[in-house]
Amino acid sequence: MENNFEEIRSAEDALLKKLSSEKAGIDNLQLLNSLKKARLMKIYIYGQVFLILLAIAFMAYRYPELAVSARPQRILRYGTYSTDAKTDECLSNIWKLMGDKNLKLNCPVSQKPYVIDGKNIYCPEPQRHGFKNIYSKDGQVPRIE
Ligand SMILES: [Zn+2]
Repeated sequence: MENNFEEIRSAEDALLKKLSSEKAGIDNLQLLNSLKKARLMKIYIYGQVFLILLAIAFMAYRYPELAVSARPQRILRYGTYSTDAKTDECLSNIWKLMGDKNLKLNCPVSQKPYVIDGKNIYCPEPQRHGFKNIYSKDGQVPRIE
């Protein structure tokens, strides 16, 4: 009698194990399916990103002027003074001279050439702009004082 009980119990155990492993199988299958879906989604998203990058690269190649205009504007100068158009032009000239000291550029207000001293560039008559000094030192962003 006792043997029978044990047999039944072990049969039950085996059945439970089988059932739970089958359930685990179903769970795994669902997991596998969602993994597959996620993987497909990932490929899809990578594909989209790749296409977008390709489009950007094409645009940059085909229309370089677009890339230039999209670039952020560089700082014209340091200092908190507000400046007029002529002074901005003067600063712009100083920027150009920082790139090439051999350029023949005159201050737009005084019409005089810039004072170049090594790596320093000065507006010849900053007081005509209403400032004490307009200059760039050591190739740094121009300053107004
Ligand atoms: Zn000037």
